[in-house]
Amino acid sequence: MHGDTLAHVTRPLQCRVTANPSHATTDTPAHDATFPNTDDLCERCGYALTGLSAANACPECGLPLSESHPDRRRGLSWQHGTSLLTWLRTARDVLLRPRQAFDQMRLGPAKQGRRFMVLVALLVGLIWAGVAMLVPPFWPIRFGLAATGLVLIMCLIEAVGVTFWSRRKGHKMTFAVAQSVVGYAAIAWLPGALLCAKAWLIRDGYFIGRGWWLQLGSKSVLGSDLTYLLVVGTFASFWFEVLVWYGVRRVRYANQRPIAPEPN
Ligand SMILES: [Zn+2]
Repeated sequence: MHGDTLAHVTRPLQCRVTANPSHATTDTPAHDATFPNTDDLCERCGYALTGLSAANACPECGLPLSESHPDRRRGLSWQHGTSLLTWLRTARDVLLRPRQAFDQMRLGPAKQGRRFMVLVALLVGLIWAGVAMLVPPFWPIRFGLAATGLVLIMCLIEAVGVTFWSRRKGHKMTFAVAQSVVGYAAIAWLPGALLCAKAWLIRDGYFIGRGWWLQLGSKSVLGSDLTYLLVVGTFASFWFEVLVWYGVRRVRYANQRPIAPEPN
């Protein structure tokens, strides 16, 4: 990463990343007269970069200034175009490599992050509707809507909380950026929903798989199905909070420029 950056700095002229993320390049502009401006901070430590040259390193932590350039963020796969493939890639990246994923996440309008989150919520709803179709009292629509609504409400509360908490800490955090972080972190609810659904099906004798989790879902191990659901629910919430924490850590000092409307 740093090697790339140094190579960019030594090149004579770099292609400036434009407002269209689908044409974003990995090049960091080395000769951008607007960077650093009076509001720009070091992305790692929050040091005010005003008055420094873009070719310098942060005097506080040593991070090259080019690493704090607003155009350095290449964007998540989903931010380059919305399709099933980019959704899956983004889900994988955020779940398995959250630090790198949020390091690359573009800031700006939250529309794409919200769409990603809504798809997660709908998937969670579908899983629960599917379970409810098999298990009495058979209320798939109610269960599906309840699960979708729960995920969306949890995400909204989290985004408001993150914005409030970050502002109190003096971080650069707009509600839009908080929504993006929470929107992508919402993927953590999916494994939890699958585990809960699995436990429910095991309880009612529908599940056909085998393995240690078969035992985990039984009353003999954890006392009751409710206990299991609470354990898995807590695990999913914790995972969600960890992803949000990673996201906030990677964007709290991130610099932004006015951005043209996102592609639909
Ligand atoms: Zn620094």
